Amino acid sequence: MGKDCGFYKEEKGSINLLLSIIVPCYNEAPVLDLFFNRTSAVTKQLQCDCEFIFVDDGSADDTLPIMKRLASENQNVFYYSFSRNFGKEAALLAGLENCKGDLVVVMDADLQDPPELLPKMVQAIEEEGYDSVGTRRVTRAGEPPIRSFFAHQFYKLIRRTSKVDIVDGARDYRMMTRTMVNAIISMQERQRFSKGIFGWVGFHSKWIEFENEPRAAGETKWSFWKLFTYALDGLINFSTAPLRVASVVGFVISICSFIYLLIIIFKTLILGIDTPGYASMIVTVLLLGGIQLIAIGILGEYLSRNYLETKHRPVYIVREQNLPEKTSD
Ligand code: UDP
Ligand code: MG
Repeated sequence: MGKDCGFYKEEKGSINLLLSIIVPCYNEAPVLDLFFNRTSAVTKQLQCDCEFIFVDDGSADDTLPIMKRLASENQNVFYYSFSRNFGKEAALLAGLENCKGDLVVVMDADLQDPPELLPKMVQAIEEEGYDSVGTRRVTRAGEPPIRSFFAHQFYKLIRRTSKVDIVDGARDYRMMTRTMVNAIISMQERQRFSKGIFGWVGFHSKWIEFENEPRAAGETKWSFWKLFTYALDGLINFSTAPLRVASVVGFVISICSFIYLLIIIFKTLILGIDTPGYASMIVTVLLLGGIQLIAIGILGEYLSRNYLETKHRPVYIVREQNLPEKTSD
């Protein structure tokens, strides 16, 4: 085995650390070789051993065959292939659950997460004593402005409504210690929102900032709608504030209605019955109807997630893999 490869560190009789690199891939055939070449050029310079775990999230293109080729050419490459597209969160979980590294890093396949930051990340954990190193994009150059705008609003909202520290511009590109990874996989929830989970488990994190890089090849897998539902998932999974908003709005409206009721009684008794009022009545009815529907909708969002959680379905289903059985350390 070469310097930078080897799955079982005990086998080599070395005290080297093992770094697991987890890469979720969905239709990433155009970029996978580029990713592997650029990243392994960096990992070769690291002091630790490395394993790549590619998770094929039900790709329809040549992603899996490329992974298999890489695995046959390199002993430190492993792949995991899902029976269909389960989403990036599922792919991340599969990687985290099945890696053996003392240090674990998750990164996108499209080279938007620069592998050149890896040495800095290892150093922050090994020498500076952090438990994890997160990365933040300081620019969103190359991204449609409307998408950046909504992303900023989402982070503002979630930071205000949730107690969990979710950083604006934070990418999922993050290196963690084994202890932190164990904490993350001990979280049993099925609807996963990693940015929230990373914050929720706590630990000491260092943030590294970098300029946004465009995708090396291929195209983004996130439509505006997919991002919207992802944001909604994040908000609902990590905050119960929307439920409270419904109660607060209901409470305020009740008080206003009560005051209005007193005014009407007063007017009727003192000034006599005043028949016109169609406009104010219809506006009130429609407004209240709308608010009630929104409140029921919010309840429904929470209830449906509760329903999905209680089914205890697996987060992902594996079709094929070349990962060796995990042995206890
Ligand atoms: N991805 C995935 N499953 C999906 C969607 C995306 O595994 O259903 C992977 C994708 O292959 C990439 C990473 O998640 O490695 C980030 O996706 P993308 O680059 O499309 O997102 P963006 O950078 O545009 O936010
Ligand atoms: Mg990307």
